[in-house]
Amino acid sequence: MTDEAERVANALKPPKCPKCGAEIDHLHYYAYELQRADFWVFDSNTEYDNWESLAGDTKGEPDYDCPICGETLFHSEDEAEKFLRGG
Ligand SMILES: [Zn+2]
Repeated sequence: MTDEAERVANALKPPKCPKCGAEIDHLHYYAYELQRADFWVFDSNTEYDNWESLAGDTKGEPDYDCPICGETLFHSEDEAEKFLRGG
């Protein structure tokens, strides 16, 4: 393989989790968000529907976790994006 081909191949490789070493191509995103839903009462049960996530009302920092080991790797989208793009 030429140097150029190797460089391209390495750039295409998914980044490795710094905690468990697994190659990961995405992260798990967790955030506290304000949700709204319709709440209904029926004869024998209750039900929620029309769940809606009210974007922009997240509380605290979101977590971006490794999907393999579950460790939190980042708290901002910028860092998470940079990592997945290979630094
Ligand atoms: Zn991991």
